[in-house]
Amino acid sequence: MPRSTYPVFTLLCAFGLAACSPESPDTAPGNAAAVETACEQADLVLYNTTIYTSNADQWTAEAVASKDGQIVFVGSNTEAEEYMCGSVQALDLEGRTVYAGFTDSHQHLEGVGRRTKTLSLFGIGTLQETVQTIEDWAANIPEGGWVQGRGWIEREWTDEQRFLNKYDVDRFTADKPLFMPRADGVSALVNTKAMELAGVTSETPDPEGGRFERELDGTPTGYVLANAMNVFREILPPETDAYLKDNLLRGLRANASLGWTQTQDAGMSYRLVGLMKEIHEEGNMAHRVYAAIPVQEAATMLQRGRETTSDDMFDVRGIKVFIDGTLGSRGAALIDNYSDADHNGFMNRTTKEELMPILYASLRQGIQIETHVIGDRAVRSLLDWYDEAYNYVPRSEWASEDLRWRMEHAQIIPPSDQQRFVELGVLPSMQPSHAIGDLNFAPDRLGRDRLSYAYPWQQLVDRGLMILAGSDAPVEEGDPRIEFYAAVARSRLNGTSEAGWHPELAVSRETALLMLTLWPAHGAFQEDLRGSIEVGKYADFTIFDNDIMTIPVADILTSENVMTIVGGEITFQRN
Ligand SMILES: [Zn+2]
Repeated sequence: MPRSTYPVFTLLCAFGLAACSPESPDTAPGNAAAVETACEQADLVLYNTTIYTSNADQWTAEAVASKDGQIVFVGSNTEAEEYMCGSVQALDLEGRTVYAGFTDSHQHLEGVGRRTKTLSLFGIGTLQETVQTIEDWAANIPEGGWVQGRGWIEREWTDEQRFLNKYDVDRFTADKPLFMPRADGVSALVNTKAMELAGVTSETPDPEGGRFERELDGTPTGYVLANAMNVFREILPPETDAYLKDNLLRGLRANASLGWTQTQDAGMSYRLVGLMKEIHEEGNMAHRVYAAIPVQEAATMLQRGRETTSDDMFDVRGIKVFIDGTLGSRGAALIDNYSDADHNGFMNRTTKEELMPILYASLRQGIQIETHVIGDRAVRSLLDWYDEAYNYVPRSEWASEDLRWRMEHAQIIPPSDQQRFVELGVLPSMQPSHAIGDLNFAPDRLGRDRLSYAYPWQQLVDRGLMILAGSDAPVEEGDPRIEFYAAVARSRLNGTSEAGWHPELAVSRETALLMLTLWPAHGAFQEDLRGSIEVGKYADFTIFDNDIMTIPVADILTSENVMTIVGGEITFQRN
């Protein structure tokens, strides 16, 4: 966001308009700042295109104009000419399609950036290709730098199924230490250079609870197990502020290149918040960020309260809580036992005793709660606890009646509890990509009956609920095309699905678009500021080479984001 826009928003703030108080229901940004000039020159006009506005009153348009970061016109090509004078930047977007800027409602920005520096070996079919991938990656690491990666798994290789060892990689990493955990995370590949730095030799004894795999003569092979990984972890480069800030910047750029105009960070530590503020001040925000603080820092959050920048580029407003685990690992808390295990999962993260005082304080201070709940027992418990907190704190003491407390993931919701989301005003924040991955094993975990209300998007929409769609990147790719596709296709990326995947729970393309635009804005109290293409809102646009509202479903995945615009500024452009 360029600083040139700051004075405008300072001015809006001075007049008490919504740019600095988006929760205020009776004010809207825009209009007041407009100064009449002879030609109504806009800063930016996009025309000769199809625009999906996410605004039900004017669902499509041909042209849009913005001035000082805000939309001043939405309509036809002919009308747009009134704004195309002077030094306006007018872009003929023939063949392209413009959407209200996409929002990823659940992401971990630092992890997204970190991923770009760490090689992922998930899903590679052979040992040979895995080694080749490592070699290609290592070629770009400077001498002395660490070659890091994760996710290799020999069980899935079709050529040779054995553990990797130093002999596979020493040839191209003589001057670079290497550390790569296996997919399970409890063993790793290291190379000779890493063992030199760690002082591991044939004389080094195995640590308690760990083992260096060895040749018959005692020489370590470079495959290390459990606690033997620790000596390498200890000498990995420290996570300095510069390292973390670089990760944030990379995450911002990667997201902008995919078309995200905002991500909502589900757990950003205050250390990262401090770095984000630097990035904002330095004018390097490639998209907006809305963040929740991890529950471990709840006390600080409750003391500091909400923090936001006047340009709405960075907003810290929530607390992120974890209640249960995941379905794949059978850690999600179910009401009845797993269909493939004799237990019903775990609620062993934040306990009710720990959480309730945080809920009370959050009601009094206007803090949004975002809770990770996956199984139906976790969902039901949280509905109970939210309700209990609402009743415990007298309404007169609430900072606002407009709570918008969220549940993240909320994967399994029986019909009776779906209705309680409506009654309690709880927002479901869900990841379409999780469903098309999880549905491969969900029938085993849940059995047939429970699948009828697993990832139940259309049932929630039918009840009038706004689903905030997100990716949970870096757990998933974090690509709006995949989220949109998963929401409408509810099939694997290759188009296949299985009995029990409940295709009727997929949503229409119109709904999917709202799940990535207007509804996430609501989830961040920003629906008066952004989320749709309307006069007075921020000029946040995602521009694709394809019309994902009409092309064949499979083609959604090969569409390309060609331009990302945030607050009227182009933050990504494909050459
Ligand atoms: Zn997450």
